[in-house]
Amino acid sequence: MLGTFSPAARLGSLSSSPTRLPTRRLAASISYAARLRERYPFIPPNTSVDHLVIGGGVIGLSVAAGLVNTAGRDRVTFVVERRRQLGQETTARNSEVIHSGEHGLSTGATLADELRDILIVATANSQVPYLDALQTLSLDPRLRSSDAELSASQNDSVVPAYFLSGNEARDLEPDLSREVKGALLVTETGIVDSQGLVDSLEREIEEGDYLSSSNGGYFGVGVRGGRSRKGTGRGEGVIVKGTRVVRIDRENKGNGWVVQLESGWEGLEEGQKGDVESVRADVVVNAAGLGAVSLMEGLVRDNERVQMWPVKGNYMSYKGPGVSNISRLIYPCPSQNIDHLGTHLRVQIHTDEHFQTIDLDGNIKFGPDVEPIGSPSDVLANPDFWQAHLAPSEAHLRSIGEAARRYLPGIDPSRLTPDYAGIRPNISPPGAGFSDFMVRHKPERRGLVEMMGFNSPGLTSALAAGEMVSGMVRRDVWGEKDDLEGLAIGWE
Ligand SMILES: Cc1cc2nc3c(=O)[nH]c(=O)nc-3n(C[C@H](O)[C@H](O)[C@H](O)COP(=O)(O)OP(=O)(O)OC[C@H]3O[C@@H](n4cnc5c(N)ncnc54)[C@H](O)[C@@H]3O)c2cc1C
Repeated sequence: MLGTFSPAARLGSLSSSPTRLPTRRLAASISYAARLRERYPFIPPNTSVDHLVIGGGVIGLSVAAGLVNTAGRDRVTFVVERRRQLGQETTARNSEVIHSGEHGLSTGATLADELRDILIVATANSQVPYLDALQTLSLDPRLRSSDAELSASQNDSVVPAYFLSGNEARDLEPDLSREVKGALLVTETGIVDSQGLVDSLEREIEEGDYLSSSNGGYFGVGVRGGRSRKGTGRGEGVIVKGTRVVRIDRENKGNGWVVQLESGWEGLEEGQKGDVESVRADVVVNAAGLGAVSLMEGLVRDNERVQMWPVKGNYMSYKGPGVSNISRLIYPCPSQNIDHLGTHLRVQIHTDEHFQTIDLDGNIKFGPDVEPIGSPSDVLANPDFWQAHLAPSEAHLRSIGEAARRYLPGIDPSRLTPDYAGIRPNISPPGAGFSDFMVRHKPERRGLVEMMGFNSPGLTSALAAGEMVSGMVRRDVWGEKDDLEGLAIGWE
């Protein structure tokens, strides 16, 4: 059963009520993580697993799928997700655009570039609703008209993109402003149903025959060319929902990690506890998104600590004049230092089990914009403080309207209405320029993998990130050699 796109997940609050968090601002010395460690003293583990992935967003699920698919028949992978449903945080609050890596050179762009293909193939085989016929117009007012003479649809980059003059762009999108002097037409892009991807990954992790029974044969995270890695076989995958990680310790004697889990935690008053148990794991992957930095407190040295600046992105929906001819995603030129991609126009994909359509008349959105909402000291005091910022900011209606009118002058900004907002888990301060993803696995913390800063294009890059991290675990923890035979399959 495929999941369908559910706007309900994007309303101003999360579907399950979070635990009551202290509202007063704490002095930096008494961080939330330190208070948690006091409240949950060390408990020796009573069970053991091979891999424990923290976070059931698209990143954690992709890593878990990669581990289940490739780390071997006898290995058990646990995913622990604090919400009662998977993918309810950043994974449910984004633009769902499959990016092509055209916005810069970075781990994110490289993964996105490689993964655009994998995601499209994987979604085709696994029947995740997505739209592949879409194109993106990326408008660049810095292009001079002479540059436009380059147009002639030359394409010698790895990104499938073509320079267009302003007039060529307006031939495709007549609603565009006369001020637009040039554009980049990106032909391999699309919109993916993020909840459908989450549902598919859930089945890939837990159901042994899900991939092999999907059309197109066996093709999962980490398994290229339609074949399982030779000699490994599938392991076991278990997803535990409604359970949060409250503490991680290095194992006293041994090479593993001891993770404390609390279920029944939602809605508790401060000082109350749910059911707590302790699990030993050889490998812990921290893919807790906006909660990832706080979980590392006490485990990494001060000079290695990552700081988080959560940044809100508002989306406004639009019904009105000036967009009746739009048939593509339209991005303005990214900001000068590429710290965000610009307030773009997004069309919404409607899915059911058999088809997708774009409803251009009723479902045009503009966003996300950039609204800083806090600093690392806010995260330190309460890593969930961002939950108070989930309603789209009405005060940003005007600036989003102005940004949109620069490339679509016919729109009427008074017809914009607040829709939803997402929070970027940024690990560099606003204005600092492009911030890449961070995947860290240090020899002195063997078996503890940190995945942080997965802002855009994290959704596009998820399956590649899962493949990369599961390969890293096989190599660095389990001592497996790279599967050269597997690599060779693509060249046959
Ligand atoms: C406004 C916006 C627009 C974006 N647009 C795009 C786009 O168009 N294309 C694209 O490719 N990417 C886009 N992205 C990026 C993409 O949404 C993210 O990179 C991706 O969803 C991150 O997934 P995640 O699994 O890391 O985080 P999440 O989805 O937040 O998952 C983390 C999970 O960890 C859980 N968790 C946290 N703490 C704990 C704990 N202690 N114990 C157990 N579980 C815990 C949370 O409940 C959550 O489910 C956008 C992001 C934003 C904010």
